[in-house]
Amino acid sequence: MHCRICGTTESQFCISGKFGCEHCVSQFPYPKSPRRNWIPTSLLLEIEEILQTNPSKLRVLSVRTRITRNLSHTLFPYYEPKEKEVKQMLAENGVLHFLKEEKNIFFLREMGLDPMYRLYLGSEDHLRLEIYQTLDLDFGAYRKRNEMGKTKLTKEKRSLLRFVTKRKLWAYAKDIGFLSSCPTNLGKGRRDSFLLGMKTGIDPRFFSLFEKLSEFGIEFAPSTDHRRESLGNFRGLVVKISWKNAFAVQKRQFYKILGLRGSL
Ligand SMILES: [Zn+2]
Repeated sequence: MHCRICGTTESQFCISGKFGCEHCVSQFPYPKSPRRNWIPTSLLLEIEEILQTNPSKLRVLSVRTRITRNLSHTLFPYYEPKEKEVKQMLAENGVLHFLKEEKNIFFLREMGLDPMYRLYLGSEDHLRLEIYQTLDLDFGAYRKRNEMGKTKLTKEKRSLLRFVTKRKLWAYAKDIGFLSSCPTNLGKGRRDSFLLGMKTGIDPRFFSLFEKLSEFGIEFAPSTDHRRESLGNFRGLVVKISWKNAFAVQKRQFYKILGLRGSL
């Protein structure tokens, strides 16, 4: 069996785990993401309590959102990167200046209150948007800052967000959502993550409670990202909390306990 549009065979798909084009999505069997359930209130309350009673033992290091998109009616980048076409589309939509092609993006990052928005090419999808905020704040200070209100997005950033969420511009299927080369990105094509530094003395229940969130699609794991990305000077245990394609209600629940404000 193979995809008649891009030629990917089923065995190739099994090895790489990547679709070659939007038609592959309806051709090859892939594990569907588990049904998303409401996170029980009791669990949220327990986590919230730990977060609130240990605010100075937790440091928020970074908050990141990644959105992934492919052009419609073309093969995915493994076959056709289409960089020229993507750039042209960015220019036509007035967002080309968000494209940052530098290899080492981490030098561009500066600590700051404003998240950085950048578009990049050369991944397994035609275009990716990364919204990245490098911080080094106590959890308490972080929450307080967010409670004070959201800073209004500039007109440019608003039009960038409109651009990536406009269905007709991208590979999209009614019953699935945005289509991507990796099955786990199908749907919203979005992954959010949060790097949290932990100082000694944090309530040990923190770890077991966060592990329970895995059945709701929220991953929790030690991380070395901050070292690779030379992010701040935190030298304790760093954990990454990340979740893909969360549905709206669940996102609201989870954002609330982290003190995040959903921007999309
Ligand atoms: Zn295909």
